[in-house]
Amino acid sequence: MPHDPRRRLPAIGKLVAQVPDLPHPLVVEAARALVEAVRGGAEAPADWGAEVRARVATRQAMGLRRVINATGVVLHTNLGRAPLAPEAVTAVTEVAGGWSNLELDLDTGERGERVSAIARRICAVTGAEAAIAVNNNAAAVLLVLTAVSLGREVIVSRGELVEIGGSFRVPEVIAAGGARLREVGTTNRTRAADFAGAIGPDTGAILRVHRSNFTLSGFVESPDRAELLAIARAAGVPLIDDLGSGALVGDLGEPTVAESLATADLACFSGDKLLGGPQAGIICGRADLVMRARRHPMYRALRLDRLVLAALEATLAIYEAGSVPPAVAALRASAAELRPRAEALAAMLRARGLDVEVVAAMGLAGGGALPGVDLPGFVVRLARRAASDDLARLRRAAVPVIARLDHDALLLDPRTLLPGDELALVEALVALPR
Ligand SMILES: *Cc1c(COP(=O)(O)O)cnc(C)c1O
Repeated sequence: MPHDPRRRLPAIGKLVAQVPDLPHPLVVEAARALVEAVRGGAEAPADWGAEVRARVATRQAMGLRRVINATGVVLHTNLGRAPLAPEAVTAVTEVAGGWSNLELDLDTGERGERVSAIARRICAVTGAEAAIAVNNNAAAVLLVLTAVSLGREVIVSRGELVEIGGSFRVPEVIAAGGARLREVGTTNRTRAADFAGAIGPDTGAILRVHRSNFTLSGFVESPDRAELLAIARAAGVPLIDDLGSGALVGDLGEPTVAESLATADLACFSGDKLLGGPQAGIICGRADLVMRARRHPMYRALRLDRLVLAALEATLAIYEAGSVPPAVAALRASAAELRPRAEALAAMLRARGLDVEVVAAMGLAGGGALPGVDLPGFVVRLARRAASDDLARLRRAAVPVIARLDHDALLLDPRTLLPGDELALVEALVALPR
């Protein structure tokens, strides 16, 4: 007859006293949970103190931490979209641990605008007349709709009533912004005349939405942008572009902010998806409309804090200097550049006894950006018997590794590896069971 484990349950206080060097509240929590589990029928540990330590370590490891993105998906929403450029990290670090001139004009000693420098930079790199920045692009669109068309109709093509990332749904954002959705056209075809026919005394704005995460093909038609702008201008109705991702540099086959503003009054876009910077939303374009958003009380609730401001400013400065941040560089990386990087990683792994090969594979923009755009590249392929178990093991590595699965193999894409990632990645792969 198995003896009753409850006989051997230690007192919580005694168990906690065995682990004096770890944070007391966490030790108490872990000790209680462990004793409860054993009382409930779980097997008693051989070494109770060690088990409490292990539980505290697991608990401390929870929460936000750095991971290695070996997926080749650049703006991976689950992985925080864009890694910040080293310059942006430095800028954040400098203002984070001290005071800053957030709302002080250093020339006059008077109270300054926390966002005037950022506005100048956004205008410099986009060519916009005026700009402001808020927490994310969802906030930007919401603020613009509230400030520009509260209580009025917003006309949107049925082909652009998109859902992005599960919770940004254009019809719902319009409703939340206090405006009324007026749909025109059909899923596959909408013409400028559809918009012209819908404009009336109640129209607050025309909203164009970038189909960030899908493509339409076949029997499709969208209104000519210039023609739509002419219709909006004739009616005195603002035309707003929700660009979402799009691009700042025109080599990724996406509309640029400058192109958007040539045929719109306002553009809204993401600081991470479009700029490769921190999570932020940017509103730019006609000064009178930007000022309406700036003066709206909701702006105060959506404005940026100094850490994001610092990161955004530093990211914009990279563009001003004619360069791009790491996420955009990763999107642009060609197969010819990626092949030697994959070969170098493969060589490191072979030197540690792993049997790998380098194969051609596609990367992805991710983040609901650049749909239908292929990013040809090369990856390291590691054949495994139970590759999906290995994926889970890699996620639990000292520095968690997020890899891609291809049937019975792990794929490791150098496109999204950052300088310094290789060593930890190799250690995590070498530690997999042989
Ligand atoms: C991504 C996206 C959004 C939401 O932007 P967030 O920065 O994630 O808030 C809105 N509209 C479009 C078209 C997008 O692509």
